[in-house]
Amino acid sequence: MTKRILPLFIAIIALLGAAGLGISKSGAGDKIRVLIIDGRNNHNWKDTTPFLKQQLEGTGKFQVSVATTPPNGAKAEDWNSFDPDFSKCDVVLSNYNGAKWEPESVRNSFEKFLNEGGALVNVHAANNAHKGWIGFEEATGLLWRGNKDGARLYLDEVGKLLKIEVGKGRGAGHGPQHEYIVQMRDSVHPITKGIPKEWLHGKDELYHGQRGPAKDMEILATAFSDSKKGGTGVHEPMLWTIPVGEGVAVTNVLGHVGGNGKNMPAMKCVGFLTLVARSCEWAVTGKVTIPVPGNFPDDKKVSLVD
Ligand code: ZN
Repeated sequence: MTKRILPLFIAIIALLGAAGLGISKSGAGDKIRVLIIDGRNNHNWKDTTPFLKQQLEGTGKFQVSVATTPPNGAKAEDWNSFDPDFSKCDVVLSNYNGAKWEPESVRNSFEKFLNEGGALVNVHAANNAHKGWIGFEEATGLLWRGNKDGARLYLDEVGKLLKIEVGKGRGAGHGPQHEYIVQMRDSVHPITKGIPKEWLHGKDELYHGQRGPAKDMEILATAFSDSKKGGTGVHEPMLWTIPVGEGVAVTNVLGHVGGNGKNMPAMKCVGFLTLVARSCEWAVTGKVTIPVPGNFPDDKKVSLVD
């Protein structure tokens, strides 16, 4: 994995006093370039994109730009104006839930970007998008899809990973929104290291029964989907990573914000925001320097930013 050996490589180059060899992302003062893509979503992307931008830039680690697709119902030629230059960003943060990006050349250049060491971070309904785009679906692993569209993964009560094959059992869904415990499943991974093992998340949808290719997934966090809350009675994946060529994708299905987006408890949750920022940093650099904030939620009390 190039991205994981890159920091070591850069350190060696710096030690040799041979900096300035044209390696990007190398300078200590360099900010990670995030490109948020939005434009279609059954969630309030017009409010959540500027909020995510502000939160990421507030860490001091990121420089964020935005690319917006034509709206739902746009004509085919309207996509001609959508031509993001992936070479000018380090990580794409998808706040997009709609049909496959057009034209096909955009999808191809995005796949090339990922395979050559780029990064993708999906938030919430971003994993509902791009039905039929195999490159995206493989990078995302589990998606909001029916049971005929892929396998399902979940963890049982002792943390054992189980798989249900395509066509069997339920497809994607969620019960009523509620506050719930998010359980970290990896205390060593840079994204989750130092985060409390269990913490209470702001009121949110709890995705269950997600379906997809489900290959090479490293599941970092789950949540118990309580049958009393319209759930499945098992631990559902909430946050995971998938290697894509030399690059990587991180999917985080927390963060529902409905139509009017008034209070945004799921997205203003310090736990959610910390995971998104750390995911963006790790996906690009292979390490995490963003600290776990002092107001990170514990297992009793939700913690939201203002
Ligand atoms: Zn939602």
